[in-house]
Order: sequence, then C-alpha cells, then structure tokens
Amino acid sequence: MPLRVTFLGTAGAIPTTARNPSSVFVAREGEGLLFDAGEGTQRQMMRFGTGFSVSQLFVTHLHGDHVLGIPGLLQTMAFNDRDAPLAIHTPRGTRTQLKSLVNALGNRPSFPVRINEVGGGDVAYRADEYEVRAFDTDHDTRSVGYALVEDDRKGRFDRERAEELGVPVGPAFSKLHEGEVVELEDGTVVDPDQVVGDPRPGRSIVYTGDTRPAQATIEVADDPDLLIHDATFADDRADRATDTAHSTARQAAEIANRAGADRLALMHLSSRYAGQTDAHEEQAREVFAGDSEGVFVPDDGQKLEIPYPDGE
Ligand SMILES: [Zn+2]
Ligand SMILES: [Zn+2]
Repeated sequence: MPLRVTFLGTAGAIPTTARNPSSVFVAREGEGLLFDAGEGTQRQMMRFGTGFSVSQLFVTHLHGDHVLGIPGLLQTMAFNDRDAPLAIHTPRGTRTQLKSLVNALGNRPSFPVRINEVGGGDVAYRADEYEVRAFDTDHDTRSVGYALVEDDRKGRFDRERAEELGVPVGPAFSKLHEGEVVELEDGTVVDPDQVVGDPRPGRSIVYTGDTRPAQATIEVADDPDLLIHDATFADDRADRATDTAHSTARQAAEIANRAGADRLALMHLSSRYAGQTDAHEEQAREVFAGDSEGVFVPDDGQKLEIPYPDGE
C-alpha cells in the first residue's frame, strides 16, 4: 500500500522564489492528508499533481506561513463543487482564530468544515489502519506537531507449514491468519501461532512544524521512517534559533537520532539561506546516526515513497 509524501512548501517564514511557505501532502490509499497550508498551497497542489481530495488538514500553529493558504484553498474547493466534508485539526485554544480564516470571505464554505482542537497526546484522526497523533512542540505560540502512525500488520502466513499440518487450503487459511484457532476434520487443533509470524510494524511519519528541539518529538512514534523537522537555521545562527523558537539542522539531527528516525527532511529554511542548503545538510550529517543519504533538504515538489520497514 503506497504511502507517499509530497513537499509542497519548504520555506521558512518568508518565501523565496524557489520555496513556498510550509505545506506537506501525504497520500495513503487514495486518501489525502495535508499538513499546514501556507500561502499559495493550492497552486503547489496543482503544480505537483497531488489533487484536491483532502479529507484532513492538520495545522501545527497559527503563524501566517502555515495557514494563509487556507482561505484560497477552501474557495477553490467550493468552486470545484466539493461536497465532501473537511476536518481541520488545530492546536487547543486556536479555534476562533482558525474559524476566522475559514470564514475569511464572509460566508461559510459550501461544504461542511469541522474544526477539531487537539493537544499533545491526543489522537487527532483515527482511520482504519493508522492514526494521526498530536504531540507538544516548543514554539512561541500554541503549537503541536503530528505523527502518522500505521497499525502493526498481521504476521506472515506460513502456507507450507499450514499444509504440513493438514490444514485444507481455503477459508481455514484466512481464519488462522485472522488469529482464529482452527479444528481439522480429524480433531487436530491448529493454533494461529503455529502458522502466523510475529506482527510486522507499519510505517510512520513525524512532522514537527516550527519548534525548538522537543522531547515529545522523540516519543510520539517508535523509529519513524521519516522525520520532517524544523531546520530554520544552520550553526551560524544557533542563538537565533533558540531566540525565535526554531531549530538548527544539527539539532534536528540530534532529535532524529534519539527518535530512531530512518530519514530526516530538513524543512522551513530561513530565506537568509536562499539557494544554499549545503551547510544544513553537512551539519545534520555530522551527527545523524543513520545513513547520511537519509538526510536531505527537500525541494518544493519533491516526492518520497515510504516503503515498509521489512521491504514489502
Ligand atoms: Zn513558520
Ligand atoms: Zn511559526
């Protein structure tokens, strides 16, 4: 089941000609999830072919570079005769502010928009095979990050072993795979443990939005496949990172290590570094414990497929 990330906007607070303000699109089995929607996000969705079928929008905080794309996006959705509901998740205490963005044009959208306030530790959205958790971040306003965490998948079914045990091919196979005990015609009882391997982990993606290094980022998911972290500054402006409640690329890599992340996407680069990403990547790679190829500053429009940890 494909899980694909499209980086729609990777700029810091001020966009550049190459980078749009923050937005990340995640597609999973036909479902579209949007994380932040900086100004111009709808055009990025068109440019990079994500489509508009978004069911959930997760807002990390109410700074303009993360939310000013919402009114335009909603208007276009309405022009497209959307009637599917949209849920917008937003940090606790920001409902009124978010509502004013949704109603910025003076009338409510033509489709239902539900605003859901979340705090750290909440499950913002529960789907069939995964959930999106909110976690506390450390920014200079009410803020959360989000983690998409898939459920464990069933263990592998050992077909050969089942046949050896005399299980007839057919419904008994799926019963066992579902975890049910099966009794054969000769009275033998076959337990799922005999033919089904250990559950296999799903995939996970953690997105911080703007933040200083924060403990909850480490704890929200076990060994995430991808951590998308604030890396507004490089080492030359480490003090400024602390003062403005952001992170450096190096700090992002330290968090990635402690979280056990496979890959690290460095986001939200200050416009001071327009066109220069080498320092960010080098400094993060100096400390990153995983494969150094796993550290990158994504370009707008870059896509990333997340494979299952066991390769299937
Ligand atoms: Zn920002
Ligand atoms: Zn911010």
